[in-house]
Amino acid sequence: MHSYSPDTNLTNFMAQIIDGKKIAQEIKDELKEKIEELKSFGCIPGLTVVIVGEDPASQIYVRMKTKASQELGINSETIALPADTLQTKLLELIDRLNKDESVHGILVQLPLPEQIDEDAIINSISPEKDVDGFHPVNRGKLMVGEDTFAPCTPLGIQEMLVRSNFDPNGKHVVIVGRSKIVGMPLATMLGQKKSGANATVTVCHTGTKDISYFTRQADILVAAIGRPEVIKGEMVKEGAAVIDVGINRVQAPDTEKGYRIVGDVEFESASQKAAAISPVPGGVGPMTIAMLLYNTVKSAQNFCASSSTG
Ligand code: NAP
Repeated sequence: MHSYSPDTNLTNFMAQIIDGKKIAQEIKDELKEKIEELKSFGCIPGLTVVIVGEDPASQIYVRMKTKASQELGINSETIALPADTLQTKLLELIDRLNKDESVHGILVQLPLPEQIDEDAIINSISPEKDVDGFHPVNRGKLMVGEDTFAPCTPLGIQEMLVRSNFDPNGKHVVIVGRSKIVGMPLATMLGQKKSGANATVTVCHTGTKDISYFTRQADILVAAIGRPEVIKGEMVKEGAAVIDVGINRVQAPDTEKGYRIVGDVEFESASQKAAAISPVPGGVGPMTIAMLLYNTVKSAQNFCASSSTG
């Protein structure tokens, strides 16, 4: 009832909305220009998305990624494989994509069926085409602050903070969640001595004794927990910026679908304390897709620049 939906009357809330959808559109508009420029040099960015099986959420994500890349003029292909695909088959496909000069970005949608070792698959993607930023080489580069493909969700969070005038520089950022794809890379990125970063970062998790003690100190609070509405208003510092990464399906028998999507933050109570808050949906989700497109264009630029000089 209290969570954000695109139809919610935002004037009821005190906090500014960090509108991920709008910021993502700005980024896509910028990328469109870059893509036109690349195309004028004969360089057409190419993205291949691979999905194995029929997980409904994965299918939705893949459709959204493919649609967004096509809208921008990226040469986009989706390869759908059956759920019983053997690991060797998937490795063969990735090998082919690694060698295909028209493909600049390869994304294998996770999770994969249990007969396939996710790490083996991620490790087999060429780091130069790893637009998800999950390959150990790219993770390592991120760690030491080298230019690389940063994972799309943390990159999107950083970008939405900077573009909404909540630059992490000098701020205390508290991240709840330490996953490999969100919490940890975000902590790494925001703690670096770089523009759009340079924050003091605290990471909380299930081993943290008193999470509120930390969250109440956060100038910027990021919830990447994967549990519905764990962060309540009383856990938020007055005037903080709150980024809600969570996508949780909760039962809602009164709705047509029988469920609704909520974040990891209790939107209504948190928005009474926060200066700004990102909604779910319409917050981090669109930013993640925009940064996938950003990484794909970056990869195309790298490849086309090296082929024109080499
Ligand atoms: P994950 O791998 O399940 O990690 C969750 C993290 O939260 C873990 O570090 C866990 O601690 C911590 N945690 C769980 N319950 C907690 C609690 N009660 N108090 C404190 N910490 C707790 O999840 P993820 O992949 O990072 O994803 C997090 C959420 O973001 C999910 O809802 C996911 O669907 C969503 N997501 C959204 C996007 C997007 O584009 N919008 C992208 C990625 C993920 P331990 O390490 O101690 O277990």
